[in-house]
Amino acid sequence: MNNDSQNQLFEMKIIRSVPVLVPMPVDRAFTYAVPEGQDVVPGSIVQVPLGPRKVIGVVWDGEVDQVDTSKLKTITHVFDCPPLQTSMRRFIDWVANYTISPPGLVARMALRAPAALDPEPMIPALKSTGTQPERLTDARRRVLELVNETGGEESIAWTKSGLSHAAGVTGSVIDGLTKQGVFETIMLPAPPIVAKPDPTYGQAQLSDEQSAGADDLCEVISQEGFRPVLLDGVTGSGKTEVYFEAIAKVLERGQQVLILLPEIALTASFLKRFENRFGAPPGEWHSDIAPKSRERVWRQVIDGQVRVVAGARSALFLPFENLGLIIVDEEHDPAYKQQDRVFYHARDMAVVRAHLANVPVILASATPSLESHVNAEQGRYKRIVLSKRFSDAALPDLVLIDLRKNPPKRGGFISPVVVDAVKETLERKEQALMFLNRRGYAPLTLCRVCGHRFQCPNCSTWLVEHRFRGQIQCHHCGYHERTHESCPDCGTFDHLVACGPGVERIAEEMDQHFPDARVIVLSSDMMGGSKRLRLELDAIAKGEADIIIGTQLVAKGHNFPLMTLVGVVDADLGLSNGDPRAAERTYQLLSQVTGRAGRTGLKSKGFIQTYQPEHPVMRALVSGDPEAFYERETLERERASLPPFGRLASIIISAGNRPEAEAQGKALRASAPTKSAFMVLGPADAPLALVRGRFRMRLLIHGPRSADIQSFIRAMMGAGPKGRGTVRVQIDIDPQSFL
Ligand code: ADP
Ligand code: ZN
Repeated sequence: MNNDSQNQLFEMKIIRSVPVLVPMPVDRAFTYAVPEGQDVVPGSIVQVPLGPRKVIGVVWDGEVDQVDTSKLKTITHVFDCPPLQTSMRRFIDWVANYTISPPGLVARMALRAPAALDPEPMIPALKSTGTQPERLTDARRRVLELVNETGGEESIAWTKSGLSHAAGVTGSVIDGLTKQGVFETIMLPAPPIVAKPDPTYGQAQLSDEQSAGADDLCEVISQEGFRPVLLDGVTGSGKTEVYFEAIAKVLERGQQVLILLPEIALTASFLKRFENRFGAPPGEWHSDIAPKSRERVWRQVIDGQVRVVAGARSALFLPFENLGLIIVDEEHDPAYKQQDRVFYHARDMAVVRAHLANVPVILASATPSLESHVNAEQGRYKRIVLSKRFSDAALPDLVLIDLRKNPPKRGGFISPVVVDAVKETLERKEQALMFLNRRGYAPLTLCRVCGHRFQCPNCSTWLVEHRFRGQIQCHHCGYHERTHESCPDCGTFDHLVACGPGVERIAEEMDQHFPDARVIVLSSDMMGGSKRLRLELDAIAKGEADIIIGTQLVAKGHNFPLMTLVGVVDADLGLSNGDPRAAERTYQLLSQVTGRAGRTGLKSKGFIQTYQPEHPVMRALVSGDPEAFYERETLERERASLPPFGRLASIIISAGNRPEAEAQGKALRASAPTKSAFMVLGPADAPLALVRGRFRMRLLIHGPRSADIQSFIRAMMGAGPKGRGTVRVQIDIDPQSFL
């Protein structure tokens, strides 16, 4: 660097300073200087020095620190990327404030693709010039014929590899032609990662009820602005087809659409359906996408090229250029809650995002969350109902099996009534699903001689036997051992017994009853991951299995044309876990899973095995009157002032030993504001008191809906001691899990 330019650098005037939010656990934006000539606006994505490093950040809004600008560090680079829009920045602030999380940590969720901050590089392409080559070999002729066939000089450009591949020649043939001036090289923008969806491509013939629903929906969409809609339709009613019409409307307006799905495993069949309807798949966004594709989706979303994204909850933080509609499919699904770092509920935050962006939001479900149901009842959400299955397919006949009256045979878990029904189903060449929401072979192994139970050394849980893998495993920390042949305590051989069933054990029982049947076990820990799962789901849909044993993974969204029988092995499993939503969850899960049966018009049945046939959930399932159940649940929640009629937050205090966790919990409780509408319960041992070697205590904060729970918790945290030693405190507003 010569002297002149050094002087220039020193004299570079700093004309202003701006707040910059960096994607780290920081609770406010830091102030940076903007060098002269640099153009930044709120939302600009920049690079700034932070300590010894250079990090990315977003120019934020609001006040800057009043310090001498000459002392400030300077923004070092502005990325060639559209700024994060105001509504996106307000969304980040809102989520941070609501969840009591550092805004920087929330901003990080919106900046998940740092390599996408520079525009995608142009790619070289070949265009015909019309010049003829000196010598025409066979290979050259093939290339020229291909180019002429596809439009000659006016043709769209080819990539070199595309052309050599299509003409069946080597790259050097193309190079030779280029050298002779037959092709010129031009630079083109990278192609879109997905083609533009066509709103008129494959319109479905809607039933009368579907048409009416779609019209209602489109009426809502046609008025701009924030309008929340609950699309409440029984399983198989065609909610997807109906909201596709709303998507078409928004695409016609040139806007973008975000579709949230609860489960990655669902997306494969969804993408296909979307493509059939719109002629191109949506952009995909979830943890299973290769980093390069994620970057391209992110960039093309902010550039406005990708029009529709289907994704997991994190897609909520994508920086849309012109968002026009958000859809939350299976809105009741607990998978929408993130239970890690920033504890947020993607359904609730989707409504917030839609509000801030001033666009409609559609929540779709056959079994809406009580929260959404109440919002619809109270008129805050417009409710659109689809009460019939498409093409008059009947819902399955549901029957309760009282396990006290019809117990399984000794050593088994399936009542003879259900076994008989499976037999008849197989005779008709149809499929049966046995549902049990428990992975592995058996949840507990014990020694019949000394009573020893196999327990995780790091967690307060039993080790679950996985017989396929020959292991006993902890489902919380992943700890595992090989299956034992003798008791590690008393040394006795062959006296270890498996207690209770998991899906593998049900598969064994089915194998014994039906040795010739093709049995598939589906659970999230299946070897081969999501790819294998997709293959298995395809195989089932094609009728390549007779009996499917599955966890909640099979409950959601899939269409299996031949499935006509669903057996729920243990309907009581989720009812007694101290969760205020236990009844609601059980109702939703069992409705969904029995709703897998008979979707294409075949007569179908569902058997629900229970010891509590009088329980309101069981009665609601078989009565065909969900409204009565919702009414009753609503009343109970209202009486107990539980969500959505009251506010709840859970504070988990964990530490390497129990006294430290307890001391912190007590100190926090003692620091809670005394004059307040909120009650602090605990600290008490969390139901999962030990996880990964950390002791967990819980405080529950409970109060009326009208009061500000965030202010209360902030005051408490502010007045309480900083967690010392190994203490860690996690705040969970609107907890969905009470473990
Ligand atoms: P839901 O999401 O309400 O459970 P889906 O949208 O998955 O229902 O539809 C159930 C099945 O019925 C799907 O296989 C779908 O393709 C089919 N279906 C629904 N509506 C139509 C329609 N109008 N035309 C053709 N097929 C339809
Ligand atoms: Zn463990």
